[in-house]
Amino acid sequence: VEQRVYNFSAGPAVLPVSVLERVRDEMLCLPGAGCSLLEMSHRDKRFLEILHGAEAGLRDLLSISDDYTVLFLQGGSRLQFSMIPANLLRGSSTAAEYMLTGSWSKKAIEEARKEGPVNVCWDGKSDNYASLPAAGQCNVPDDAAYLYYCSNETIQGVQFPSEPECPQDVPLVCDASSDFLCRPLDVAKYGILYACAQKNAGPAGVTAVIIRKDLLPRGSEDLPGYLQYRNHAEADSEWNTPPTFAVYVMGLVTEWLASQGGLAAMETLNRRKSQMLYDVVDQFPQFYQGHAQADCRSLMNVTFKLPNDDLQAEFLSQAAANQLCNLKGHRSVGGIRASIYNAMPEAGVAALADLMRDFANQHA
Ligand code: PMP
Repeated sequence: VEQRVYNFSAGPAVLPVSVLERVRDEMLCLPGAGCSLLEMSHRDKRFLEILHGAEAGLRDLLSISDDYTVLFLQGGSRLQFSMIPANLLRGSSTAAEYMLTGSWSKKAIEEARKEGPVNVCWDGKSDNYASLPAAGQCNVPDDAAYLYYCSNETIQGVQFPSEPECPQDVPLVCDASSDFLCRPLDVAKYGILYACAQKNAGPAGVTAVIIRKDLLPRGSEDLPGYLQYRNHAEADSEWNTPPTFAVYVMGLVTEWLASQGGLAAMETLNRRKSQMLYDVVDQFPQFYQGHAQADCRSLMNVTFKLPNDDLQAEFLSQAAANQLCNLKGHRSVGGIRASIYNAMPEAGVAALADLMRDFANQHA
């Protein structure tokens, strides 16, 4: 393939073309630096500008106050599955409360159990993780170590429409890996909000961790240095060498988002894009079986099944012939998954919706 296709990959995923062009143009020589960013010290003044620019970009988009530190870490979101309980649960007498809503929260729970007591306050197993807790369904004690949830389960395609209720003194912790920057949110509601970049915010290699400063002292002294949030906070994300290239691209993505009108504009666009696909699912409910219940359908990962494996294979092959690629669902659940992150052009989603309609008309 020589040409760019419509790439529905769940992550690493589509990036804005203008960002890729800028990266290409600056690859050999970052303006003013005399070398590539790839060749530059992370202590270089020019890189520090980039690091602080990426932070400022996130702070502007999400209106993050000075009560929060923004960290750029390595190890992906899965290291956060361990770092969060290592800092906030190790040695705690009360349990951390976890909402089990799909594959990623399940893995987070497995890691947290290694650090301390965990209580699963909601489990979506009975309907195969197609729904999310409604208001009042989770009983979170006032002294819980924290309440953890995953705002968008990338594999199932279920997304919280807004934050779950959380007692005032309990830090709310959110894995926003696959819906970060897809809509505005109120950071003040969170203790920790984190996201790996490689879905909606940049390339693989960097994870943004937004943490309320009063939580930093909670990490016990005996943690391995990298796992201790305050080491990174005190060193301005330079406790060790940060993933410089990934931070640079994430900064460019925040600039692109601002140029598109910010997160409110993104939400409008993402609602429109996802609705195009859900409309077809609803038009042919016997043919396309959507996974998520209507009230928690993801704006980012649209998941559905076709009546049988043969039709599914045929659908994927017709899609690929139309330059609509990487639509196969996660190996653990099968089906189709269209990941339509911020940078997926509306025309790509429209082309997929057209194909779905034609295909159903041919085969239903
Ligand atoms: N959480 C969610 C919601 C994810 O989608 C992913 C990546 N698919 C992860 C965590 C794990 O991220 P990483 O591979 O960066 O550790």
